Amino acid sequence: MNHDEFRDWSRQAADWGARYREEIRQHPVRPKAGPGEIASQIPTSPPETPERMEEIFADFEAKILPGMTHWQHPRFFAYFPANAAPVSVIAEYLVSAMAAQCMLWQTSPAATELETRMVDWMRQALGLPQRFAGVIQDSASSATLAAILTMRERALSWEGNKSGLSGNRRLRVYCSDQVHTSIDRAIWIAGIGEENLVKLPGSGPLRGMEADALEAAIEADKRAGYLPCGIVASVGGTSVGGTDDVGALSDVARRHDLYLHVDAAWAGSAMICPEFRHFWAGVENADSIVFNPHKWLGAQFDCSIQFVAEPDDLVRTLAIRPEYLKTHGRDGIINYSEWSIPLGRRFRALKLWFLLRAHGLSGLRQMIRNHVAWSENLADRLRGAQGFQIVTEPMLSLFTFRHGAPSGVDEDAHNLALLEAINADGRIYLTQTRVDGKVAIRFQVGQFETAAGDIDVAYDAITGCAQALGGYGSG
Ligand code: PLP
Repeated sequence: MNHDEFRDWSRQAADWGARYREEIRQHPVRPKAGPGEIASQIPTSPPETPERMEEIFADFEAKILPGMTHWQHPRFFAYFPANAAPVSVIAEYLVSAMAAQCMLWQTSPAATELETRMVDWMRQALGLPQRFAGVIQDSASSATLAAILTMRERALSWEGNKSGLSGNRRLRVYCSDQVHTSIDRAIWIAGIGEENLVKLPGSGPLRGMEADALEAAIEADKRAGYLPCGIVASVGGTSVGGTDDVGALSDVARRHDLYLHVDAAWAGSAMICPEFRHFWAGVENADSIVFNPHKWLGAQFDCSIQFVAEPDDLVRTLAIRPEYLKTHGRDGIINYSEWSIPLGRRFRALKLWFLLRAHGLSGLRQMIRNHVAWSENLADRLRGAQGFQIVTEPMLSLFTFRHGAPSGVDEDAHNLALLEAINADGRIYLTQTRVDGKVAIRFQVGQFETAAGDIDVAYDAITGCAQALGGYGSG
């Protein structure tokens, strides 16, 4: 492709993107395509000779688009959002065009320095104290893995990386049963072993673990010869928004000299609104915090900020400095690859810079406040609709509900059938979870361009599909 063609096709791609966003409501949120349908249209081996861009682009529209789930659809109410505000897409285009590797300061000084500044902008926006520095990781899973490795190394006096875990005392990490599975995976990968992740039951309306039970578990483990190394607190768990009392857990962490990591991957974005910060009161005492601007805030995936109270501990855990990566004679610079697991790094700070400037914190706060209010409003309307039961109340913009099954029909099967009917209808997209062992349907509002009218459509789709399915009210 020559430079003129590059310009032309970039313009066409930009036009396509703008039209796609404009017309996105015309698509079903979840595609109608069945498994294997897209793959069957793609040749099984690569082309030997070059093909024309016209054909490639036409195939993209004809073969790929029909198989896409539209995460930027304003009626995407499934999982958590993965918002890509248009302004962040523009920043990502510029990043793609420059395609720089941002592993060291000298491989991209502007990317490194903007990253430091953006992490600090976000620190201020979230109301966190100045003692936190941070880094933009690719995902919360990576950030949590980095935190688990750091707590492991800290407990082993920085010997685990050198000598491995055999011969060392068995480590223990504590969390509630509401944490995201990225915690489990980090524990496996760190070699701590899943049996040493102690999951305490969440209780109360927010399903947080009890600080007393946590303390008792730590003391029992110490007596049994284990080496407790850290606690992972959840703020806004994926299933129903499970949230720990971070302040109470940080007291326990301090008493036992344990590392405290806070997973606020989704809910962290809401902390730009001071009125929601009570959900993580005490967070200033954490050792690290992860939140994903790529979820609710609007910075295109991937963009996950890990705040750390002691960056030296993270660097001591992850840094490796062969001669070819040394930056001689550059004192006081940051090489962010020493703060992350991969060496190569994308330039992730630019989209955050564009987003924060184009919308301002006030614009982003308004979006989040609207989502929370709309979610509460829909929960109230469903509570009043025949046969519906709110299973977990809104935690920020996430709640779960169930619909009563006709007599003789299994309630879980009925709710899974209702979910499938809603998603096949195409106007909205929802996913399920289990609450106390029973299927519940999740609803979260978080898409960047959702409007109040989309919530009305959601109400109609949910109640209409329930009616068509013939459920009765048990609730
Ligand atoms: N933590 C929570 C609470 C989540 O909801 C998720 C994903 O939804 C994650 C962690 C993992 O996020 P990532 O996809 O950035 O690894």
